Amino acid sequence: MIIKLSPNPTEATIDRVSQWFSQQGVEARQVNLSGQTLFVTSSKWKGDPSELKTLEGVESIVNPGTEYQLCTRKFQEQNTVIDLGDGVVFGRGNTVMMAGPCAVESEDQVMRTAEFLRSKFDIKVFRAGAFKPRTSPYSFQGLADEGLKILDKVRDRFGMKIITEVKDTTHLDAVADVADIIQIGTKAMYNFSLLNFCGQMDKPIVLKRGFMTTIKEFLQGADFILSNGNSKVILCERGIRTFEPQTRFCLDVCAAALVKELSHLPIVLDPSHAMGIAAQVPLVAQSAAALGIDGLLVETHPDPANAKSDKEQALSFEQFSEMVSVLDKICTAVGRTLVA
Ligand code: PEP
Ligand code: MN
Repeated sequence: MIIKLSPNPTEATIDRVSQWFSQQGVEARQVNLSGQTLFVTSSKWKGDPSELKTLEGVESIVNPGTEYQLCTRKFQEQNTVIDLGDGVVFGRGNTVMMAGPCAVESEDQVMRTAEFLRSKFDIKVFRAGAFKPRTSPYSFQGLADEGLKILDKVRDRFGMKIITEVKDTTHLDAVADVADIIQIGTKAMYNFSLLNFCGQMDKPIVLKRGFMTTIKEFLQGADFILSNGNSKVILCERGIRTFEPQTRFCLDVCAAALVKELSHLPIVLDPSHAMGIAAQVPLVAQSAAALGIDGLLVETHPDPANAKSDKEQALSFEQFSEMVSVLDKICTAVGRTLVA
């Protein structure tokens, strides 16, 4: 249950509402989100809020009826719009292409990729990880701080925005210094301290769905960030694990379609990690674009065969180019503009 207070509530109003809850023995969390002061209780609280409505300073009460609450359209009907400038807008009818290699491997590899994306397609958001959450401790873990410095140079040289991932709280500040968008990966999605800290950042957060996460848990993850005050959450469907071993994961377009209705947050899709096989990534990207989504995350590399991570799914520049020309038409057909 979400209790909205009137704008700019006094301390006395906040205390009154807070005391009402303590008298009932109910835990209610104060949330400051997008200039609104709210109290949110667990959805399990089935008490009668009618007396609350009579308290001075209480504007309205919303009961989304689900355990995820702040991300729902019942709380906020209209789309959350996240505008990073330079035409990079999530949630307003565009499909923003975010592209680059899986990992920062070297300055040369990153600069070649950024040069290609910016000069050929005017792509505005560059993706690459400096802190890589690998499944094996023996494989390339990323260049860490050195990698972040290289990403900073991409922004300086090409004027691109940077999306890069954070694995845990130890390097969150370092990542936030460089990133325009902070990415929380599929495995880090269950790191609730990380979600809380990202909720205290004034930066857009791409929250990737865990590959074994239900839609409900995914949206609850978003609520962790929102309830800490950060309204700039972008959801990312990147494939879930099924019984099928021949594709890396399975892009859950059903979840994406449903989430568009359930949540006001922008949603982007990652066909690269879902498919895991470069030759088929463009087809999956096409089906994702046809859904009418806010963005795509796609991996491309100047020399896929020698990529240090996720080489099987990295598109060559040729494959990437062919994909973009088709995506452009699909986005137009579904009433969107591809921001690339
Ligand atoms: C990535 O974007 O390179 C990545 C590791 O993504 P995910 O967390 O979805 O596996
Ligand atoms: Mn990757």
